[in-house]
Amino acid sequence: MYNKEIIKKYLIDLLQIPSPTGYTSKISNYIIKELEDMDIKHKVSNKGIIVASIEGNDNTYSTTFSAHIDTLGAIVKEIKSTGRLGINQIGGYMMNSIEGENCIIHTRDKKSYEGTVQTIKPSIHIHGNEAKDLPRDCKNYEIIIDEEVFSKEDVKNIGIEVGDIISFDTRVKITNSEFIKSRYLDDKASVAAMLYVMKFITLNNIKPNHNINFLFSNYEEVGHGSSTFIPKDTKNFIAVDMGCPGDGQNSTEFDVCICTKDSNGPYDYEFIDYLIKICKANNINYKLDIYPNYGSDATAALKSGLDAKFALIGPGVFASHGYERTHIKSIIETTKLIISYINN
Ligand SMILES: [Zn+2]
Repeated sequence: MYNKEIIKKYLIDLLQIPSPTGYTSKISNYIIKELEDMDIKHKVSNKGIIVASIEGNDNTYSTTFSAHIDTLGAIVKEIKSTGRLGINQIGGYMMNSIEGENCIIHTRDKKSYEGTVQTIKPSIHIHGNEAKDLPRDCKNYEIIIDEEVFSKEDVKNIGIEVGDIISFDTRVKITNSEFIKSRYLDDKASVAAMLYVMKFITLNNIKPNHNINFLFSNYEEVGHGSSTFIPKDTKNFIAVDMGCPGDGQNSTEFDVCICTKDSNGPYDYEFIDYLIKICKANNINYKLDIYPNYGSDATAALKSGLDAKFALIGPGVFASHGYERTHIKSIIETTKLIISYINN
């Protein structure tokens, strides 16, 4: 019934498009093209939020699902006299998670250059214990540009400037056992799930029982993703974003994870009851969990004044904001919950 090859295709496409927060127009264009191909009504806000809408049998209210298309990344802070780049982080992550990673510097005149993230003491043969003991702070990292540049002037001459966006290699790998390893499964695994749900609805001529919106936000990693442009008739808001499997957690990489509380407090109790009921009735594998250091687009929406029941569901992503991993099963269970909800 569910075509996981389509989900994988969407996911691989999405993971290969660099989209650090503030640099999301390419991935927006990809989403818009898919919506046009599926002939789904959609609109784009001034700040770049995309909302796709499907009319239901009852058109007096809607449920809005949201996922974010932006990811972590970095920005050029300084061009050093050595021809290397000092950086500043976009979003919250541990610097050691990008140490040694390949990257691309995107210039304002649409050129791109390759580089590597290194510490300022990158060689054990030169720096010995100082290399090991160096605090893993942002200021101790730099980008080595893969061009013959040895001074600030050389770097400026090839068109790199302070404020240029840096994206990191996602290293997408799907194993034979169908684990998916990549950076930024948060939240592209959910974006792939939402695109697939729309494909499924279209292919099967499904008319939802009430109006459904799919919102793609582009500033989630910095806290103001779904803070605006939510359709006015939204009675229910469901953020589709990663669950957190790991030590002491109940989430897994195989189930749809339903969050009951995150850093901003509990999610809607009765609405979670309702989602559990749908999971049970449709044999959907789910896990309830609590995320101690987490904020979602659902709370961004509520803090900006939305009055709606709200929930957070999504695939379990291990080692979040690092080199992440999930399993295709987790994405499939997430799509099953969304489709069952729409049909319910
Ligand atoms: Zn996320």
